[in-house]
Amino acid sequence: MIRFCLSMVFLTLAAPVSAKEAPDDGFNPEALDAVKGLQRLDQRLHNIGYRLVHANIRFCDTKAARTGLLLNDVAQYADQKTARFALGFDSSIGITAVAPNSPADLVKLTPGDTLRAINTMSIDEITVDDPELLAEQPAYRRIAAINRMIEQALVENNVQLTVSQKGINRTVPIASVLTCPGQFQIRVSADRSASADGKLVRVSSRLAEYFLDDDEFAAVVAHELAHNLLKHRERLDAQKVNRGFFGQFGKSARRVKEAEIEADRLSVWLMANAGYDPQAAIRFWTRYGKEHGKGIFSASTHYRWKKRVQLFEEEIAKMAAVDPVDGKYAPPLLAIND
Ligand SMILES: [Zn+2]
Repeated sequence: MIRFCLSMVFLTLAAPVSAKEAPDDGFNPEALDAVKGLQRLDQRLHNIGYRLVHANIRFCDTKAARTGLLLNDVAQYADQKTARFALGFDSSIGITAVAPNSPADLVKLTPGDTLRAINTMSIDEITVDDPELLAEQPAYRRIAAINRMIEQALVENNVQLTVSQKGINRTVPIASVLTCPGQFQIRVSADRSASADGKLVRVSSRLAEYFLDDDEFAAVVAHELAHNLLKHRERLDAQKVNRGFFGQFGKSARRVKEAEIEADRLSVWLMANAGYDPQAAIRFWTRYGKEHGKGIFSASTHYRWKKRVQLFEEEIAKMAAVDPVDGKYAPPLLAIND
């Protein structure tokens, strides 16, 4: 599944407001649950993404420094006061997820910590004036600026973060690890979809809720990440492939389908290297295919689910026939870049 969107519309979480009486703390329980539910999906995707990009570092030609932190700005929520309370923040920007065994985990940063400063720069003093950042949706600009500031400081290998928890500040030095590039994001949406735009992997909240376990979730994330690692967007753009309605026919359809097959093939190798069960790809697509048989799978750009399952079986058999090196299987579609 791939959806190339040139202009992605972001939905901020519109927490449902019910007529029920609010509890004593003044917050609507359903609205709190909505924020916490979204945070759980963000955490799962963040952890799965981190494991995939970390475990497959040898096979990526460009590398990115990563701390394992996921930061969030309450500006992204329709009801900011409720979001701040539900996320446990003292102020507007804080940590919503920390990947297990990441540098952030090692210095005991935790979800609910509020970000106060990066080195000597207070978060309140950060302004967004760079044209590239101004191109982001307004609610995402500050987070984009902060993430970029941390990345730049990591290059100099000298980052201290000041965080607060219930008003108590602490400053910790934070290291980074090299991983494959890429970001991961839950998109609040009632449709079941996932997409890859060359840099970012997005999974809709409804699809994320549909996965039975993290292995199934990893199957879809690995497929989308594979599109990015194989630079499919760049390749299809260079081939002037029409990805709109008319792209469903002829040469364009064939080229998109080739990219889909490559992403499926690479996905199971990425999964195995990260310790996920590659068979979960077969379990997921079989279940999804039986329920949605006539949906996206009948388009000429995508294989039908039975063919996809066959392709996964072939690829898993190929993997079983090779010896892993240092516990990692070298995917035929990627070169080794030590
Ligand atoms: Zn795809």
